Amino acid sequence: MIKPKTTPVAADFAHVRDWVFDLDNTLYPHHVNLFAQIDQNMSAFVAELLQLGPDEARALQKRYYHEHGTTLQGLMLNHNIDPNDFLERAHAIDYSALLPHPELGEAIKALPGRKFIFTNGSVPHAEAAARALGILDHFDDIFDIVAADYVPKPAGETYDKFANLHRVDTRHAAMFEDLPRNLKAPKALGMRTVLLTPRNLDDILIERWEVFSEEDDHIDYLTDDLQAFLSALTAG
Ligand SMILES: [Mg+2]
Repeated sequence: MIKPKTTPVAADFAHVRDWVFDLDNTLYPHHVNLFAQIDQNMSAFVAELLQLGPDEARALQKRYYHEHGTTLQGLMLNHNIDPNDFLERAHAIDYSALLPHPELGEAIKALPGRKFIFTNGSVPHAEAAARALGILDHFDDIFDIVAADYVPKPAGETYDKFANLHRVDTRHAAMFEDLPRNLKAPKALGMRTVLLTPRNLDDILIERWEVFSEEDDHIDYLTDDLQAFLSALTAG
């Protein structure tokens, strides 16, 4: 097994021309808990649509998420819902938990080449979150679940769609994600892969490390601080 590195080595990224970032729990840390609001909205949507109690709705939502990559995909395939309606309601959240992060903005800006957000969420959600962080202007484009024809990461075809649309040479690209399974396809395409891990949750970190040693040989780097990681790449 190959152990992921934790200290960024600039030479490992010297060939990178396109920088690809997941949004939720990647561009902002897990402990902000923004995604918990989205999660709640999705459960409420399922409960209302199918007239289920909260526990049943939550269980079904999680099943769809697990089986189809997103709750949305499960709802579209099984209940033929309108994706726009769902996305609007899922992302009707309070963004005030996200504070401007100028150092992160500077670190992203300093990276040589193009920068993309590649999310299973929507463009309005990505824009709102990136704007709240004060980093929106540093991105060249956002590839969202609509652009992906509602087929979410980790499906390989969605990474191909993204790369084709933006003419990304994946051998000269890096991907940042908080979900290990979403880095499998990027690694297979030759991308440098960086996994964001939760901060200040030592137990979870240790647990995740154990998981890596079992099966995850597709992750080049682990970090719990995106800004520090990126800044280290362009320092000096
Ligand atoms: Mg994420």
